[in-house]
Amino acid sequence: MKVVRFHAPGDVRIEDAPEPVAGPGEVKIRVRNCSTCGTDVKIYKFGHHHIKPPRVMGHEIAGEVVAIGDGVEGWAAGDRVQVIAAIPCGKCAECTRGRMTICPNQVSMGYHFEGGFAEFMIVPAEVLAVDGLNRIPEGVTFAEASVAEPLACALNAQNLARVGEGDDVVVVGSGPIGCLHVRLARSRGAARVFLVELSRKRLDMAADLVKPDAAICAEEVDPVEEIRKLTDGRGADVIITAAASGKAQEQAIQMAARQGRISFFGGLPKDNPTITCDSNLVHYRELTIVGANGSSPAHNAEALQLVATGAVPVADLITERLPLDGALDAFGIVSRGEAIKVTIEP
Ligand SMILES: [Zn+2]
Ligand SMILES: [Zn+2]
Repeated sequence: MKVVRFHAPGDVRIEDAPEPVAGPGEVKIRVRNCSTCGTDVKIYKFGHHHIKPPRVMGHEIAGEVVAIGDGVEGWAAGDRVQVIAAIPCGKCAECTRGRMTICPNQVSMGYHFEGGFAEFMIVPAEVLAVDGLNRIPEGVTFAEASVAEPLACALNAQNLARVGEGDDVVVVGSGPIGCLHVRLARSRGAARVFLVELSRKRLDMAADLVKPDAAICAEEVDPVEEIRKLTDGRGADVIITAAASGKAQEQAIQMAARQGRISFFGGLPKDNPTITCDSNLVHYRELTIVGANGSSPAHNAEALQLVATGAVPVADLITERLPLDGALDAFGIVSRGEAIKVTIEP
């Protein structure tokens, strides 16, 4: 079978590999869609300390069960499934408290295990042990199901930032995750959703699709001033930074309303992770700053339901479909921001 394999930073190859066999406790799937995101580009360019090459990449996975290993119950050939990306241990102090996104023993598809940029893939026993293999609801396509993973991450963030009825929400960054955040905030009853982005081109492309109440180009205007104007000086109830930018995080604190919540959804570069925070803003205005680290198995299941019920449509966000051979082209398209969601169809 054909796979997309990471060998070293800058060295990702489309190559032949033996078809895997489902061992005890494992499920083998035929991958139908594995979508790409900025993480794949980062791995391609810089590698990752959890990846020991060679490793098949790909973590936004949907496919069809083709074989069942010994001892696996509840699954049969032909079942349509979505696979979690981050795998919690299910046993540690955090997992047993229900905080699976911050499991210190977390392992990941495409990092510790062979990923989904392949014709076939093994769902490891570790995934099944934490209910990380989800049935794709009827009416949901494989491509849509592959977007459940990033949507699950957005869901985790909006739960932590308590996005809800009547909120004015700012999303900073108009990539695929930013678009998902806009749609998710609307489904949770946000009053208005504003989209902020540096690149005019990317902003227009995203705004065309997700129709925010205002689209603000941070290169042309001061986004803090703009948000204050739009909210009669009050500021926004929730600001989500879906961009690897310290400046965006600092601006997010500045544009928060009293008792505003700020989600640092996107991490910062490892060599530059420090920002300046006016602590008195946090103190007197009772702000809450929260992080967000991936998603739990339950978030993935809920994300699939959000897609199935139409609460968060994702089909139109998938703007590019490429075969396995086109994986490197896909990474290029993602890194240049020329599409919203790029999916690989092995
Ligand atoms: Zn991803
Ligand atoms: Zn754990």
